[in-house]
Amino acid sequence: MSETVPATSGRLVVTGCDLLRVPAQGECEVLRAQDIVVADGRIQDVRPTGATGPGNAAEVIDGRGLLAVPGLVNAHTHSPMVLMRGAAEDVSVEGWFNDRVWPMESNLTPADVRVGALLACAEMIRSGVTTFADHYFFPERIAEAVAETGLRADIAPTYFSSGGPEALEGTVKFAEAWHGGAEGRVTVSLGPHAPYTVDDGDLRTLSGHARRLGLRLHIHAAEHLEQTESSLARRGITPIRVLHETGVLDAGALIAHGCGIVADDLPLLAEHADRTAVACCPKVYLKHALSPLTPVRELLDAGVTVAVGTDGAAGHNTLDVWEALRLVALTQKQAERDATWMTVSDTLRLATRGGARALGLENRIGALEPGMRADIVLTDLSGLHCRPLHDPRAALVYSARASDVRTVIVDGRVLMRDGELLTVDEHALVTEADARVARILDTSHGRAVQHYDP
Ligand SMILES: [Zn+2]
Repeated sequence: MSETVPATSGRLVVTGCDLLRVPAQGECEVLRAQDIVVADGRIQDVRPTGATGPGNAAEVIDGRGLLAVPGLVNAHTHSPMVLMRGAAEDVSVEGWFNDRVWPMESNLTPADVRVGALLACAEMIRSGVTTFADHYFFPERIAEAVAETGLRADIAPTYFSSGGPEALEGTVKFAEAWHGGAEGRVTVSLGPHAPYTVDDGDLRTLSGHARRLGLRLHIHAAEHLEQTESSLARRGITPIRVLHETGVLDAGALIAHGCGIVADDLPLLAEHADRTAVACCPKVYLKHALSPLTPVRELLDAGVTVAVGTDGAAGHNTLDVWEALRLVALTQKQAERDATWMTVSDTLRLATRGGARALGLENRIGALEPGMRADIVLTDLSGLHCRPLHDPRAALVYSARASDVRTVIVDGRVLMRDGELLTVDEHALVTEADARVARILDTSHGRAVQHYDP
């Protein structure tokens, strides 16, 4: 475990770093030679180096030669699925769900989920991801992993209608127990899986609970165009209209993918734009040969928040948001046939402020400004793949790698210092994960948690 001073005691100062300022609108900016003063887990001040000394700081981090960026937000993932990384390749979406992933998931125990979540947290800390929106089974085990590793997460317990009333009650109980937990680093959303696995009655019930508890819902919807067409053929309305009619949009929704959002859906989303977000995870659309992409331009024009996600590692293979944000920029430019669209600044904004808004945390995280929680990532852009460094912002989007992340601070607590994880024993964790893999991958039993037929 860490020898780090707990977030609530004393001050921490990062000295002499450059700092990426991500404004709500307009160009991002690199401020040279700054000190970041942190007190009680919050950024107290950002000021030019040398303005005053580090004062009575309990901990000083030498930031010289490093660029401080706001911690990245992974706006949609299923963290324990790192255990199935690379175990479902070169298959259709149907094959991915029905032949691989849902049979494998029927093998998972709460102890597996704990190990998977810890491994995911370790990978995300190494990648400079300080907050993630998770959606999975055995959410208590994930929340404990978040509490233990020091990360920040919004956790939605996955719910299928096939689980029945007891499972639905369980998700509500988890929310009541964990929302605001781990010193405020854990928040909870309700997690109906999708309109094609959760019936309208359950969506209404969960929307009601969400409103009562002041929570949002995190749900897969209109994942691709075929789902929208199938919904129209089977019941005459789009998946987004289902969310509208069942109160999900009214309560507030983080929608995963939304690639099948059509023109008729946009006014419904715009009506609830202050509490609606869509997480775009392009690598999985490319891998599963799906088009179109999330309609990012139309959503932003409608005032809807767009954020960047990886989805689970069974599809995305990494939880690396640098990779995800780069693919957002590249695929958006190509899809729009507009090289001036999805600029470096806009891309960085989606992965920071956009992610914060998507989780309803825009007043707490997403920017390195006084008053914000201290989620700070120090990156080293001195590698050959970044040099000469004409524009650090462009390097972040198009050249940087997860391995360029040197030091990670969440809520004022140092989780990785100069490449060393302080809250996770990586070697022991990987050994424990490896020992579980053969059993998890065995699908000879013929069981599955669901059948995919949207
Ligand atoms: Zn997903």
